Amino acid sequence: MKPIIQKGLKQIQEEQIQEIHAVTGGDINEAYYVRTKHQEYFVKLNKEMDVSFFEFEAEGLSAIRQTGAINVPAVYGVQKDKETQIPMLFMEWIEGKKENNTDEILGERLAALHLSEGPGFGWEGKSYIGKLMHDNHLHNSWLTYYRDARLLEQIKIGQSQKSISGERNKQLMRLLEKLDTWIPNNPKSSTLHGDLWGGNWMTGKGGVPYLIDPSILFGDHEFEMAFTELFGGFSQRFYDAYHSVFPLSPEYETRKELYQLYYLLAHLNMFGESYGGSVDRIVRKYVG
Ligand code: ADP
Repeated sequence: MKPIIQKGLKQIQEEQIQEIHAVTGGDINEAYYVRTKHQEYFVKLNKEMDVSFFEFEAEGLSAIRQTGAINVPAVYGVQKDKETQIPMLFMEWIEGKKENNTDEILGERLAALHLSEGPGFGWEGKSYIGKLMHDNHLHNSWLTYYRDARLLEQIKIGQSQKSISGERNKQLMRLLEKLDTWIPNNPKSSTLHGDLWGGNWMTGKGGVPYLIDPSILFGDHEFEMAFTELFGGFSQRFYDAYHSVFPLSPEYETRKELYQLYYLLAHLNMFGESYGGSVDRIVRKYVG
């Protein structure tokens, strides 16, 4: 990959690579540490994806940065190698050690991000959750957006891949019809990271937390908080700090799993039937 990365880097900065090594830990992309004379970079590449995949990630990082609420790596550029068509994302290299207050800062700053209000619900433009592309627009109603542009969109992907059919499909459709029982029509519209599991934040210099790898949208902050609880990785200190700035509503517990359902459907569609049991359990809980 070095020649391709070197070519891409030349578009951004006329500098030779002095050191390069692969970085592991992501779900989806090939990633590299790159050092030139003046700068360290984190570079992601993906042979299978369209350049819009990294453009969307860069757009999300830039939108989060603009709120001034929480740190994100600076984006230096999105490139597509002319010969191989491989897309690449060049960004700031982040490295640091957790301090005692890192979790609290993450909680407070995430709450500040969520207090940054959006112009509606959703996002205008081509979007991705993981590798899955989904149509995205700004809606006036969170309920309609969450039902049609999120749950139904994943259900349709599942139907076409045959991971959703028969009884599972019927029950999901029943749930969609009743969704207004639990999901609010017009909650506060927050700027959300959109894919905040424990692996999508990291610590930079001085123990300062950074958000990485967003799937940006405007929506109900409880959607984001529900996902942080799905796979764990966030401490009680994080939640206490978050709640002290932006409390969750008393109804949060009653809809939490409906918000986790979206991510479980996306995981079912990306990674297979190991997520099917959790999808079915949640749907049964709400529609009987
Ligand atoms: P993927 O999109 O494949 O899931 P990630 O963006 O999550 O990839 O990055 C993969 C790993 O690389 C992360 O787990 C993290 O350890 C590391 N990483 C991500 N962004 C940076 C960065 N800006 N600087 C240094 N390391 C990073």
